[in-house]
Amino acid sequence: MKEKLQHIQEEAAKRIQEANSLDKLNEVRVAFLGKKGELTAVLKGMKDVAPEDRPKVGQWVNEVRAELEGLLEETKAKLEAEALEKKLREEVIDVTLPAKKMEIGHRHPNTIALEEVERIFIGMGYEVVEGPEVEYDLYNFEKLNIPEGHPAKDEQDTFYVNKNIVLRTQTSPVQARVMEEGKLPIRMIAPGRVFRSDEVDATHSPSFHQIEGLVIDKHITFADLKGTLEEFAKELFGPETKTKFRPHHFPFTEPSAEVDVSCFKCGGKGCRFCKGSGWIEILGCGMVHPHVLEMCGIDPEEYTGFAFGVGLERIALLKYEIDDMRLLYENDTRFLRQF
Ligand SMILES: [Zn+2]
Repeated sequence: MKEKLQHIQEEAAKRIQEANSLDKLNEVRVAFLGKKGELTAVLKGMKDVAPEDRPKVGQWVNEVRAELEGLLEETKAKLEAEALEKKLREEVIDVTLPAKKMEIGHRHPNTIALEEVERIFIGMGYEVVEGPEVEYDLYNFEKLNIPEGHPAKDEQDTFYVNKNIVLRTQTSPVQARVMEEGKLPIRMIAPGRVFRSDEVDATHSPSFHQIEGLVIDKHITFADLKGTLEEFAKELFGPETKTKFRPHHFPFTEPSAEVDVSCFKCGGKGCRFCKGSGWIEILGCGMVHPHVLEMCGIDPEEYTGFAFGVGLERIALLKYEIDDMRLLYENDTRFLRQF
């Protein structure tokens, strides 16, 4: 009997040592100490043992059981520690790995240019006003001195919603709307999207942005217009910038002029950027036509004013030396990331 127990003990100890997982260890426990286990079978067989030997055998069995339980417990602790260590190793966080980058967008070159222009004019006491992109023909053309059949209407051919409603070709209708409200004096800029039926190329797009300005007050003269736009050009392109006013024609203003600024690349000497002329055209302007004032309910005998309009894309292209307007609309992030 003693030999049998010894054999069980050795066999169990061997299998405990070989168990390389908690599951396997449990199998060994069941095989030897479980209800149908080998050691349990010995206890069940006690009835065949001579009564005087029973205490002795009982003691042996208990010793073997205690021995095996101790061994099981020890191995279990060891396997658990190993499993924990393995788990920790697998789940370790490598703090040297580069973090997932939070992609925060940033401002489009058009937006940067717009905010710059707004900053300059707000600094001079102007108000920023917005108006509808879908506009009555009346405000887009008629009230701005462009009646039916006027050649300027052809130049600004646009998208008609119906006979009386157009996608605005300019932001000037906002000026007409503000003048009609009759709150004088007026100092405003109107930035916004405009539409013309132009083919897309490096300098044209059917949709682009304008910023138009309007000042109406008593005793406003062309000198005010010149001073304002000179200051604007210096703020935008640098303090050494010179301006040049060339006579032009716009139906909305009389007299009218186009404004050039001295090339900020070469300082006016002439370079590739200014096509050798030393000057770059930036905007159109003039004194508000008396007829326009009248149509908007303002007495041209008492009030005068000036207006100007600048293409937002033109400023963005100049400021960042971009040579193709299409880049501004393609929204290729490799391009946009540069600003
Ligand atoms: Zn130049």
